[in-house]
This record gives sequence, structure tokens and C-alpha cells, in this order.
Amino acid sequence: MHLIFLGPPGSGKGTQAALLEERFGLCQISTGDILRQAVADGTPLGNEAKACMDRGDLVPDRVVIGIVEEKLKGAECRKGFVLDGFPRTTGQAEALDAIMRDFPAPDGLRIDRAVAFQVDEEALVARLSGRRTCEACQAMFHLTLSPPRVDGVCDRCGGRLVQRPDDREDVIRQRLAVYEESTRPLLDYYAGRDLLSRVPAGGTVDEVHAAVKAAVGL
Ligand code: AMP
Repeated sequence: MHLIFLGPPGSGKGTQAALLEERFGLCQISTGDILRQAVADGTPLGNEAKACMDRGDLVPDRVVIGIVEEKLKGAECRKGFVLDGFPRTTGQAEALDAIMRDFPAPDGLRIDRAVAFQVDEEALVARLSGRRTCEACQAMFHLTLSPPRVDGVCDRCGGRLVQRPDDREDVIRQRLAVYEESTRPLLDYYAGRDLLSRVPAGGTVDEVHAAVKAAVGL
């Protein structure tokens, strides 16, 4: 199964994509995670992306398109994939169509469904500004919604919990504005191809997981 998760930052795409990977073996392709890893490793890709990410802006299309193309061709994606945070612009969506069409498989590949996660803006700001990530294992917590047992310490591995630089409120507002301008038009792009399902994403992780499964037929 080949899925796209669309939705504003903080709408839970990453959490839900990770669940589909764990429970159904679909490969989670998160461009945000790949870029953050590149920044942490100080690679040329990371150095190019860092300034855009810190401001809450998108990195250039050509950079992310290259990343996704390489990932899609990897063996781990054979059982299917969830694109988490890609495409985010019309240019990326068109590039994805071309990659899928020319995919080295009989007759290329097709997107089965694009899932749009829907949460209201104030809830997103509250979710993102309270989010904390483990420096060591990347586990996610939230100061009020899912706090760690010990303040500032990861339950899973004992690592230090930190706030992503782009989860500060001013940067969150910029990320939401970029979503509205560049990414929201993709809902029409996929609706026009009869591929869009809208999922209410304000509930618990389990409720949203059930809604996503129903939307994609899993
Ligand atoms: P995310 O974790 O998905 O919210 O992504 C964090 C940041 O990585 C975004 O604010 C962008 O700067 C960058 N990024 C992630 N995915 C993309 C994409 N598909 N296109 C452009 N920039 C991206």
C-alpha cells in the first residue's frame, strides 16, 4: 500500500506513520526526520537545510525530491510506504507523480490514498510548543499530554529531552503559515484525483489510528 499523509505540523502524521510501520510493515518516509538527522550529522545536505528549517520555511524542492526518490527505491519500501511530510508543494507532488510513473516496477507504482489530518490551529500550537524529544532515541513526549515519568528525562532510554528549535511558538506560527500557503492546495490536487480522505485528528492516538485505518482500508 502506498500512502501520503498530509496535514499541518503537529497534526500527528509522524506518530500515525510510525504506527503503520510497526503494525503493518509499511515503510515510514519522513523527510523532516531525514533532514534533522542530516543536520545532526553535519552533512552537506544538513548544512544546506538547517537555516530554512530553523526559520520554519521549506527547504528547496530539489533537495527533498532527491531524498524521497532514493528512499522509494530502497528494499525497505517493497512492502509499501507512508510518505510523512512529503509532498508539501505542488512541485513536489508533480515530481512524485513522475517518480511513481517511471518506477522500475512493471507499470510503475500508484498512490493508493492521500490522508489529510485535520486539527484546529490553536490545538496545533499547544501540541507543538509542549512537545519534547529525546536527544538519544528520538522518543516523543509532551509536557501535559504525555509527560515523562521524570522531568526532562526519557522514559525509554534515560536520554535528555529537548525542544526542537522549530517548536518555539514564533517558528510554529511561521510553519503553519507556510502550510496554508504551500501545502493546503495539495488537498485539492489529490481530491481532484479521487485519492483524498479527510480524517479528524484531534482525538487520542488510538482514535486517530482507527480512523486512518478505516480511511485507507487496512
Ligand atoms: P517536519 O518534521 O515534517 O515538520 O519537518 C521539519 C522541517 O523540515 C520543515 O519545517 C521544513 O523546513 C523541512 N521539511 C520537511 N519536509 C519537507 C518537504 N517535503 N519540503 C520542504 N521542506 C521540508
